[in-house]
Amino acid sequence: MRDFKKVFLRVLFFVVVGAMVFSLGGCGGAFKKSKPMPSYCRTELTFLLPQPYSRVYVEIDRIEGVDLPEGALEDLEIFLNKYCLKPDGIELVRDDVIPESEYKGRSAGIVANLFIDGPSCRVDDGKTAYMYILVYDSKKMGRQRCLKAHVSFPYSCMIYYDINSFRLLKNHIGRNVLLHEASHVLGLCKNTEHGDGAHCFKKGCLIYPTVSAKFFKVLFGKPAKKLELCDDCQRDIAMLQAENRACKMSFNGPFLVRQEDGYWIACLPVCDLISISGADRFDWRQMLAKMKQTVKNNEDFLRENPNAKCCEFTLNETGESAEEKKKMLLKLKCISKDPAPIVGKYVEDAIRELEAELVEKPQ
Ligand SMILES: [Zn+2]
Ligand SMILES: [Zn+2]
Repeated sequence: MRDFKKVFLRVLFFVVVGAMVFSLGGCGGAFKKSKPMPSYCRTELTFLLPQPYSRVYVEIDRIEGVDLPEGALEDLEIFLNKYCLKPDGIELVRDDVIPESEYKGRSAGIVANLFIDGPSCRVDDGKTAYMYILVYDSKKMGRQRCLKAHVSFPYSCMIYYDINSFRLLKNHIGRNVLLHEASHVLGLCKNTEHGDGAHCFKKGCLIYPTVSAKFFKVLFGKPAKKLELCDDCQRDIAMLQAENRACKMSFNGPFLVRQEDGYWIACLPVCDLISISGADRFDWRQMLAKMKQTVKNNEDFLRENPNAKCCEFTLNETGESAEEKKKMLLKLKCISKDPAPIVGKYVEDAIRELEAELVEKPQ
């Protein structure tokens, strides 16, 4: 008989998620109604509240020859310090410069997944919220759609900063674009009283759907006026901080973990890890290395299917008996009701496989 544990450990498959990836691709573009941000994950609380994370670590990678406009990171630091209540501070770390041999022909998601490192050992004490920024140019990388600068779900602690869509305006609006995306990471603008669930209606607000340029300033090489969050958006942040509610999102290194009843999901840019083993702590360095290898092993598939992600299960307490398999089936059916549609897709395949096992070897 096949060992059930082995059966599940080899469950690793890919799902083309298409519309299920929530992308704020409209940022900086023409005004059109945005899809509202999903409400099942409140990653912003990990950044806005002083506990359980007392600091924020921001890792910034860029591809060779592309960089943020001058002063943008300093402005980001000021912005995060203003809105994130972090007694141990905000640390921004310029990390990898990714050479052409590593980025050419790869999507931003794959590059991010391969180069993400997580917080340094020095601050890896369970009190560090993590943010990742990839600065790139989709035109140089080739073979991928320009999504403009954006933040995607479920790995919503990452900013994709693609200069392709505002190349000529980078020094003019680049700073505002960066802070606009950082505002999404901080959960703005979910309040539909002054926004559409992802952007604010107030003209001049940093999280207004468009980041505008002024012709004459561009002509004379001057940066655009520095935008700020409007009073309503600032009030939303202050209210969230005053509510101080519990958050089911957590970080384990660069993994963004969502704890649900009886299972958890840990995300990276193009990988998800699902576990029903209870404790949401795992050796993240070891798992990150494993996930990077998985991405490399399946790169062709991921490249051909730009919306695909890989998913791995760590179901390490399973047994061989039919009874145990049935228990597992119940757990999987419970996970299939997860609010993130992609998770249901992952689990459907696992359920089918397990049901086939039970029919094949009912015992
Ligand atoms: Zn936006
Ligand atoms: Zn606003």
